[in-house]
Parts: sequence; structure tokens; C-alpha cells
Amino acid sequence: SEERSLNFIEEIVEDDITAGKHGGRVHTRFPPEPNGYLHIGHAKSICLNFGLAKKYGGKTNLRFDDTNPVTEDTEYVESIKEDVRWLGFEWANELYASDYFDLLYAFALNLVRQGLAYVDDSTPEEIATQKGTPTEPGTPNQYRRRSIEENVQLFEDMKAGKYPDGAKVLRAKVDLASPNMHMRDPIMYRIKHAKHHRTGDKWCIYPMYDFAHGQSDAIEEITHSICTLEFVPHRPLYEWFIDKLELFPSRQYEFARLNLNYTVMSKRKLLQLVNEGFVEGWDDPRMPTISGLRRRGYTPASVREFCERIGVAKRENMIDVSLLEFCIREDLNKTAWRRMAVLDPVKLVITNYPEGQTETLHGENNPEVEGGEGGRDIPFSRELWIEREDFMEVPPKKFFRLGVGLSVRLKNAYIITGESVVKDADGNIIEIHCTYIPESKSGSDTSGINVKGTIHWVSVPHAQTAEIRLYDRLFRVEDPSNEDGDFKEYINPDSLKVITGFIEQDLTNAVPGKGYQFIRKGYFTLDKYSTADKLVFNRTVTLKDGWVK
Ligand code: ATP
Ligand code: MG
Ligand code: MG
Repeated sequence: SEERSLNFIEEIVEDDITAGKHGGRVHTRFPPEPNGYLHIGHAKSICLNFGLAKKYGGKTNLRFDDTNPVTEDTEYVESIKEDVRWLGFEWANELYASDYFDLLYAFALNLVRQGLAYVDDSTPEEIATQKGTPTEPGTPNQYRRRSIEENVQLFEDMKAGKYPDGAKVLRAKVDLASPNMHMRDPIMYRIKHAKHHRTGDKWCIYPMYDFAHGQSDAIEEITHSICTLEFVPHRPLYEWFIDKLELFPSRQYEFARLNLNYTVMSKRKLLQLVNEGFVEGWDDPRMPTISGLRRRGYTPASVREFCERIGVAKRENMIDVSLLEFCIREDLNKTAWRRMAVLDPVKLVITNYPEGQTETLHGENNPEVEGGEGGRDIPFSRELWIEREDFMEVPPKKFFRLGVGLSVRLKNAYIITGESVVKDADGNIIEIHCTYIPESKSGSDTSGINVKGTIHWVSVPHAQTAEIRLYDRLFRVEDPSNEDGDFKEYINPDSLKVITGFIEQDLTNAVPGKGYQFIRKGYFTLDKYSTADKLVFNRTVTLKDGWVK
């Protein structure tokens, strides 16, 4: 494999190890909020955090950032764990910010007692106005002058449930004139009388992200806390809390979030697609979620390879989804088992093949691997389904498929020559008649005839039917979130096409999670809801980039 240069975060980590910082220890964390399913952007963060620990002999915690009881749910917790494991990573510890609610409360009281935090009764609007603007300093209100004793009492009363939602907040007393708006007395706690998925009704005050995240990092002695660029302006506050509380000096480093074209990637927007019925669910194969990619037929290795190839950027950019498709194509080319399926069938009759006769041919599973990974039996008979587009009654020059007077090889079978067609009253071809050359059987061909083309087929009496779902991009514009109006106006109306096709017999043995190349048609996988009575296959990706703008 190619040697790749260090990314900037690896450089920081290697410098820290060389300097003996934290005894050379590397401890990262992946901190999802359990308010939705993970998407490909999260996969980037997972590969980065777990990858660093793996590379430098460290550890990674899975920490649920569950400080917002209203939007969080254990369903999401379970799906997140499944997705991280599926990607191939195992965490050192499963932790929850909510485990630290007692400690965080004690930290907050500590700051109140130091005169570094105060209870503010202002409305959110008043707080926003008093904060000033980036060019105008904020103005202190009367609550900022409250005594330490009064603040201790009020904060304890907030915790005890004496006030309704929104009546008061606890704010850090930092600097109302700071050029960084996040430092203008940020809110640490708000009142929310809501049941939490883990702590139940124990709390009615909940810490804000900025007061929970860095402190959780410090409690876990995280050495490198990696997050996305939007947290750059939060970093001074992250360090201010750690400094004032004299906690373990975790440090925050930021990289550019992954943006992918032709999709949206915020959980809030993905939830709208689910709730408003634009997709089947979080794991709809068109979704950029990890569960959607899995159901679509992406492999963990292909997703990791994609994350590796895009690298770790310091500037926002947009990644072309073609790169993701390239990665799965590369992987499936090496691993998928070859099978035959006819998606737009027309009947082919071999007039010189005895009626009622059947023979069993053989095809290897995987030509990319020495030995072919074994093979399967393929029943052959006088009547076959072939792809309508593989035949032309009056073929142009260089048409290397079947035509009247043109010869072609049937994959794993014989060479045939087109003879005539049968049409219905409207002139549509309903049957193609051909003859075959008995000596031309694949593997024991003594005919001496060479043909340019090979087409796939399925024996009519042995064919099984399957529902086949052909997916395209979910949006018809590159960056739906940046267009005028609602992003949902830009949904691609043709993102799903459901057809019924004929598949070769052996595909009834298809197993979930395995990739199959339907020869000449693309890569497919069994849908998770497929049953023996109704087989359903999802197209993972076409064989070549077939996207036409
Ligand atoms: P969203 O905006 O989709 O809701 P989020 O950042 O609020 O995402 P979290 O659950 O808080 O979602 O994210 C967990 C971790 O994954 C965070 O460290 C976050 O920075 C990272 N992450 C989220 N989205 C991306 C992305 N597109 N690219 C890289 N990392 C991401
Ligand atoms: Mg977040
Ligand atoms: Mg979010």
C-alpha cells in the first residue's frame, strides 16, 4: 500500500509524543449526540479519532453527548453503537455526559463560589441584546452584580426545581467586551423540566454544550479532543473553564467537516426527510447515513477507504460523491460474486436446441481471485431471457451484441447467431430466434469461432423473479442546503426506480451484507427486508459512473 504523508493532526500528535506530553499517551473520544443516526460525516470523525488511537497505541472513548433531553433517545444510542462497530472500531469505554451531571453541577458551584458565574433572570432576547454586536461591547445588567451567596442560593433553587423553564440561566462571568462573542458571559445551565433518557426526572437543569464538553474531556483525561471547524471560536472558552476549574488540560483541535455533494448532512435535515416521508427511514439506501450506506451495500472497508482518501483538511470543502462511489466499486470489484440477472427482459429461443432439454453449466464466483472462490451451477435451456438492449434487429456497425446475422457469446455458455424476430401487433419484438453452435461451449470450445461480444442471460424455466431497486442521487443539485427556499424542493424525483427482473437460480442463496455483481449491470445486495417469498435487491452502484447531470 502507498505511503501517505502525515495529516496535520497526526503531526500534532507525533510532536506531543516526542515532547513526552501526558507521558506520550494518546486518548481520543468520539462524542455523538444521540439525537439521530450517524452519517458519513460522522464516519470521517470516527475514522479519525479511532484511527489516531490505533496508530499511536492509544484509546478512544465513545461518549454520548446527551445533555439535551428533549431530542435524545435510546434508539439513537443503540444505532450509534451498531454503526461504530460495523465500521470496524471498538471503544475503550462507553460513557455518557449525563454520567457527569453531578460533577458538572459541582464544577458550576465551584465557579459560582469563585465569583466566576452568576444567575441571570433575563429573557433570551434581553441576553442577546445585552451581549452587544461583534463591533460593540456588551452591557452588564443588574444580575451580573449579584453576590456570591445569592448566586449559590439561586443556583441551588434552580436545581431544586423552584423555577419554570427559561426563568433563569447560569452564566459564566468572563468578558462582555471580548471580541469573541462566545466569551461574552456564555450560558452554562438552563432550566428544562424534561425527562432524560438516562437520568429520568432527577434533573431539571441541564448544562450547555460548552460547559459539558470540555469538562467531560477533562474528566476522561482526553489528550486530543478533535472536532470540526465551527468550534474554533469555542476553544478559548473550552480552555477558560478547564483553567478556572484546574482540570486535566485536554486540548481541542479542529478540522474541516466533511461535506458531500448531492446530499444533506445535518441530522436535523435528515430527520425531516424521515418524518415527512421523503425516504423510508434513517436507513433508506439513498440516505447518507451509515445505516443507509450499509443497507445500500457499502462495505465498512469502502467507507474507511473513502475517509482515508479525502484526508484531513483545515478548510471547508465539498467532496464529490463520485469518490465514494469509486471506493465501493473498487472494493466490490475485488470481493463481489458474479451472477446473472436480466433487468429488462426479452425472450430468446434457440431453435436448434432440443425442446425440454436442460443442462447445467458452471460459472466461477470471482474472477478477481485466484481459484475464483469456487463457483455455482447455472441451468441452461432452449429459452432464455436476455436484455432487450442487447439485441438490435438492424444493428449498426460496431454493435458487438446480438442482431439478425450477428453472433455473440452467451456468458458461461455458447456462441449464438441471431436469425429472426417475432413481433406483436404493434411491432414490438416479443421473441428473438437464434441458433447455437454446440461445439462452442465455454471452457471446451472447439468451434474455432471468435466473437467480440458476450451477453448475460437467465434460463426462462429456471428464472426467479426479484424486485430490484435502482437508486440515484437523492438531490438533483450539488448543494441543496445552499439553494433558495427549502432544501426539500431539490429532491430528485427519480431517486428510486423499482423494477422486477429475472435472476439466476443461485441468487436465491444470496446472503445479506454480501455484494453481488450482476454481470454488466452493476453491484447489488440483498435488501435487509428481503424475504424468501419476495426477494429484493438494492443496487449499490453502477459499474461505471453513469450519472448524467
Ligand atoms: P449534525 O450537524 O449532523 O447534527 P453534529 O456535529 O451536531 O452533526 P454530533 O453528534 O454532535 O453531530 O457529532 C459527533 C461528532 O462528529 C462531533 O465531533 C462532530 O464534530 C463530528 N461530525 C459531525 N458531522 C461531521 C462531518 N460532516 N464531518 C466530520 N465530522 C463530523
Ligand atoms: Mg454536536
Ligand atoms: Mg447537531
